[in-house]
Amino acid sequence: MAKMKAMAMLGLDKIGMIEKEVPVCGPMDAICRPLAMSPCTSDVHTVWEHALGDRQNLILGHEASAEVVEVGSLVKDFKPGDKVIVPAITPDWEAVESQMDLSQHCYGMLNGWKFSNIKDGVFGEFFHVNQADGNLAHLPAGMDIEDAVMLSDMVPTGFHGANLAEVAYGETVAVIGIGPVGLMAVAGSVLRGAGRVFAVGSRPNCVEAAKFYGATDIINYKNGDIVEQILAANGGKPVDKVILAGGGLETFEQGVKMVRPGGIVSNINYLGTGDYIKIPRVEWGLGMGHIRIIGGLMPGGRKNMEYLARLMTYGRLDVKPLLTHRFENFEDIEPALLLMKDKPADLIKPVVRVG
Ligand code: NAD
Ligand code: ZN
Repeated sequence: MAKMKAMAMLGLDKIGMIEKEVPVCGPMDAICRPLAMSPCTSDVHTVWEHALGDRQNLILGHEASAEVVEVGSLVKDFKPGDKVIVPAITPDWEAVESQMDLSQHCYGMLNGWKFSNIKDGVFGEFFHVNQADGNLAHLPAGMDIEDAVMLSDMVPTGFHGANLAEVAYGETVAVIGIGPVGLMAVAGSVLRGAGRVFAVGSRPNCVEAAKFYGATDIINYKNGDIVEQILAANGGKPVDKVILAGGGLETFEQGVKMVRPGGIVSNINYLGTGDYIKIPRVEWGLGMGHIRIIGGLMPGGRKNMEYLARLMTYGRLDVKPLLTHRFENFEDIEPALLLMKDKPADLIKPVVRVG
């Protein structure tokens, strides 16, 4: 069998380049080669926080734009040579859960997340995409392959946070954590019509980007209790909605303490460690406050990619401010992932351009 190079999790806390068989294409599937790739904080949870347990020689990565090199006999809309956007989440569209609008959980919890979880990810010279017609989107004319990588995960996840929070015109929204995901939650909230957005973060690049995406107030969690800071800034009142995109389990408690009766605390953070989440009884209205707490994996699939891409094509969303570090060789995916782990102060998101 033909072999290829790939960047893999070798075991707990270990990554490296390996050789592995080129994946085989099924009748509804595609084989792609990456054009640009980006590591995710989720890869960091997987390798260094052991969030998915031990994995040996699992190819990492779920963010890439790509060129199709092979398609199965039943694929209708894609052919070799097509440039594509690849969502991080690639559901089985026939599953009952998918028919319930929960394609992320097709055939079981989180099963729509296949890359770098239940099969090899996209950091190989080639990778496999299940159900190509339902899971790939054509790269729109004029879209840069680096920008397209942000559509794999950062844009849909941040926007999912705003959707789960059901952000409406004029609302006050607090976004906790303004790495790339939180920044896209700010952008998504603003596009949904938020009136005032409190962005909780500290890194100067992220703070600048948060203002660029429409945050009206910056709250530094290193300057003291964020609940007190946000309530004080909001005239003593709780906010309408809270989106959790950084920090640990304590952010749920903070979220409930800062949201109004009937408000929503929407989590898009990947909780890599810990066992239980505390919900403060009194601020949760003694169990009767109508405060909803919800957490969700981003929805993948073709339609979501096409619709989010349209926001970029027609100038409503610019992802360039996210891309702070650039690399040009396939092997550079390793230092790029280490950057994501070490998070130097000037980092938002690295991208490796190979096509
Ligand atoms: P990131 O680490 O770049 O950003 C998180 C930010 O939160 C950092 O800037 C960090 O300094 C800040 N932070 C830490 N503690 C904080 C606190 N107490 N209060 C406020 N901010 C705090 O991560 P990212 O790449 O933006 O990703 C965010 C999370 O989203 C990660 O857990 C990632 O794995 C997850 N994720 C989830 C999905 C999904 O589908 N739900 C998809 C992609 C990524
Ligand atoms: Zn990710």
